[in-house]
Amino acid sequence: MTAPFAYDVNPARIVFGPGTLARVADEVRRLGARRALVLSTPFQQADAEALARQLGTLAAGVFAKAAMHTPVAVTKEAMLAFQGVDADCVVALGGGSTIGLGKAIAYRNDTPQIVVATTYAGSEVTPILGQTEDGIKTTVRDPKILPEVVIYDPNLTLGLPVAMSVTSGLNAMAHAVEALYAQDRNPISSMLAVEGVRALRAALPMIVGNPKDVTARGDALYGSWLCGTVLGTVGMALHHKLCHTLGGSFDLPHAETHAILLPHSAAYNAQAAANELQPLADLFGGAIGSGLYDFAKSLGAPLALKDLGLQEAQLDAAADLAVKNPYWNPRPVERDAVRSLLQRAWEGARPQ
Ligand code: NAD
Repeated sequence: MTAPFAYDVNPARIVFGPGTLARVADEVRRLGARRALVLSTPFQQADAEALARQLGTLAAGVFAKAAMHTPVAVTKEAMLAFQGVDADCVVALGGGSTIGLGKAIAYRNDTPQIVVATTYAGSEVTPILGQTEDGIKTTVRDPKILPEVVIYDPNLTLGLPVAMSVTSGLNAMAHAVEALYAQDRNPISSMLAVEGVRALRAALPMIVGNPKDVTARGDALYGSWLCGTVLGTVGMALHHKLCHTLGGSFDLPHAETHAILLPHSAAYNAQAAANELQPLADLFGGAIGSGLYDFAKSLGAPLALKDLGLQEAQLDAAADLAVKNPYWNPRPVERDAVRSLLQRAWEGARPQ
C-alpha cells in the first residue's frame, strides 16, 4: 500500500544536452530579460567572459568573485555591480559557489536566475541558500532562491578534474541516500533518488577511465540533477548534519567531506532504514556502507578525514556539535555512536 504523503514540486525549466550553452541567449529572452550579469568564480572567469561575448548585447557585465560558502561581503559587492550595470537577470556559470552567489542576489532582489551548472553538487535545483557572515553560516529556504532555468551542458564538465568529479558525484549521491529515508519522503522523491544514484554509479567509473567521455559526463549530470532535485524536495538527516558541522566549524572542504562521510553515515542508518535503502544496497553489492566505501575507493576518492587536515583531538568536539540540534534521522542520533562513526571516518576504515 502506498503510504500517505504530501509532495511539493519545485518549478524549474531544465535544458539538457551537449551544446546547450548556446541556448543561454534564448533563455534570457524567454524570461523577458535583456541585461544579464554573468557570475563565476575567479577560476572560471575566462569562461564567464566568453559567455558574455556570446550573449552580446544581452550581457550587462561579468562579476567573477564568487567564493565558497557565499560570503555576504561578496554578495553586497555583487549587488552593487548588478545595480551599477542596470542588470535585470543573472546567469551563474559554475558549481555550488557561483550558484550560491546568484541565489543570494535573487534572495535580495528577486531577480530571475539562469544557471549553467558545471559540477554535480545539485544546488541549482534547490530553494536553499547557505551564506556566511562573521564566520557563521546560516541557511535560508525561500521560493525566490530557486533558479528559474537550469542548463546542463555536459561539454562544460569535460574539464572538471577527475578528483573533483568523483567527490562532487559522491556529494550528489549523498543527497539521494538521505532522501530515501527522509521522514517526508514520497514515492516520487524515492524514485528520483534511486535513478540518480544509478546514473552516477554507472557514470563515475567511466569518467575516471576517460574524463572526456561526453556520454558519461551527460549521465553524471543527469544523475546529479535528480539527486539535487530530491535535496530540494525532502529533509536531510545525520549525514548532512555531520557535513555541515565539519564544514562550518572545522572548515573542511564541502565535496570531499561528503565523499568521506557518506559510507559511514549510510552504514549508521543501514539497519534502521533497511527497506528504504535496499535498492541502493542492491546497486552496491549488498551492504550499503561497505559497498559505498569500496566504490569510493575504486574511484580513488579520499577516504579519511585525517587527510583533510582534521586532528584526532577535534573529534570529540565535532561529535558534541553534531548531536546538538540534530536533524531528524531514522536511527536515534547517539553521541557515542556518532563519535565512533567519526573515528572510523577519520581513520579511513571500512564501515562494518
Ligand atoms: P565550487 O562551486 O566551489 O567549485 C569548486 C571549484 O571548481 C571552483 O574554483 C570552480 O570555479 C571550479 N569548477 C567548477 N566547475 C568546473 C568545471 N566544470 N571545470 C573546471 N573547474 C570547475 O564547488 P561545488 O562543490 O559545486 O559547490 C560547493 C558549494 O556549494 C558549497 O559552498 C556548498 O555549501 C554549496 N552547495 C549548496 C547547495 C544548496 O542547495 N544550497 C547544494 C550543494 C552545494
